[in-house]
Amino acid sequence: MRERYDVAVIGGGPAGLAAALAADEAGASVLLVEREAQLGGILKQCVHDGFGLTRYGEMLTGPEYAQLDRDRVSARDISCATGTFVLDGMRTDQGFELTLSNRAGVHHVAANALVLATGCRERTAKQVFIHGDRPSGVFTAGCAQNLVNLQGLQPARRAVILGSGDIGLIMARRLTLEGAEVIGVYEAKPTPSGLPRNIAQCLDDFGIPLHLSHTVTRTFGTGRLEAVEVCRVDEHMQPIAGTEQVIPCDTLVVSVGLIPENELAERLGVELSPITRGPLVDQCLHTLTPGIFAAGNCLSVNDLVDYVSENGFGAGAAAAAYVRAPHERRLVQVTAGTGIVTCVPQRIDLNAPLERVTFYLRSDGTYRDRRLAVESGGTTLIEKHLRAVNPAETLRIEADLSSVTQDVEVRLL
Ligand SMILES: Cc1cc2nc3c(=O)[nH]c(=O)nc-3n(C[C@H](O)[C@H](O)[C@H](O)COP(=O)(O)OP(=O)(O)OC[C@H]3O[C@@H](n4cnc5c(N)ncnc54)[C@H](O)[C@@H]3O)c2cc1C
Repeated sequence: MRERYDVAVIGGGPAGLAAALAADEAGASVLLVEREAQLGGILKQCVHDGFGLTRYGEMLTGPEYAQLDRDRVSARDISCATGTFVLDGMRTDQGFELTLSNRAGVHHVAANALVLATGCRERTAKQVFIHGDRPSGVFTAGCAQNLVNLQGLQPARRAVILGSGDIGLIMARRLTLEGAEVIGVYEAKPTPSGLPRNIAQCLDDFGIPLHLSHTVTRTFGTGRLEAVEVCRVDEHMQPIAGTEQVIPCDTLVVSVGLIPENELAERLGVELSPITRGPLVDQCLHTLTPGIFAAGNCLSVNDLVDYVSENGFGAGAAAAAYVRAPHERRLVQVTAGTGIVTCVPQRIDLNAPLERVTFYLRSDGTYRDRRLAVESGGTTLIEKHLRAVNPAETLRIEADLSSVTQDVEVRLL
């Protein structure tokens, strides 16, 4: 490892791999740092297919998708520090200094620009206020997936799943295939959180019931989990007294949401969005802190890895361009209008390329036959008809903003 790089990419999942490739292709010297022993991020444990349809036109498994980018990275002159944790980062006169920790000890590297690609982490049972002791047998879905798919262990005989997000649905099927009895998936909201295809393929095909407007309120057991208490919830998602039901089980899999991992970003003073919980960025995925870029799930939680790779490529190329020739930014706001909850980017730099700006969005509900519009100064810049809109699916739209001189709004009409 050298002491100084043009671009340091933190996190070796699909976002970080793409960012490293793009920065290297643009002529930058690149360091890619990953705390795990192998590059690939969460994809390593996602053995189901469904990855890469947009990018490759075929359905790959997570490990297959990751391997394609790993091969490209190893064919290029990119320094990869695996088994290395980025403990800290700070701004210096010449850029940034990172503190790295690995088996060889703690050391420092300098970089002119950073790409944050640290992914996200799962919310835990304690974060959704489940009462009870702390018996073994309560796992986040990602942890259960790691045990089954990477370590070859079977953590469950009789399981309850809390949360109908995609990871919970995938684990309901996975545990069933591994011989466990999955009693049901319990979801506090009145509608499922996961993609319709995952409800069909992971629950319906295996006869696993989905209980909407229900939650888990208590665990029983001190050594190993013995049972959980489930309750119906009202429209404010509060448990309804008198609806409690105790379900004997040895495993509770909690799949109640992902939180972008941004401790390092916060330490570097990067401003975060209270809505996505990731950095506020412009169309180059440049955060509001000059020289720091962000991509993938640390920017905003993604359902499709193809979009993660796409914005990883964008962030890597933009970081290399910044190192070559930094420019003064002229930022205007992007507003998430009617029907839109999250929007990336949240700013447009009028001094950066504007011809092909990609927006990644999530809707606030399920709709049919809507128009997704990008507008500025009373003019509609682009409009797209959408047959079906679902909050579980990222909406993507590309717009030519060359004529824009003021704030932009994206809305569902
Ligand atoms: C269970 C599951 C199922 C999915 N199923 C599908 C699917 O079927 N189809 C699809 O297209 N998409 C799917 N996705 C979504 C997609 O795979 C993810 O959105 C994508 O992999 C996220 O990539 P990332 O690079 O942002 O994050 P990650 O893959 O999480 O990578 C982040 C990396 O950063 C590293 N890191 C973090 N902090 C540090 C630090 N301080 N120092 C060093 N390294 C650090 C982590 O170790 C990790 O390797 C799924 C996601 C999950 C979780």
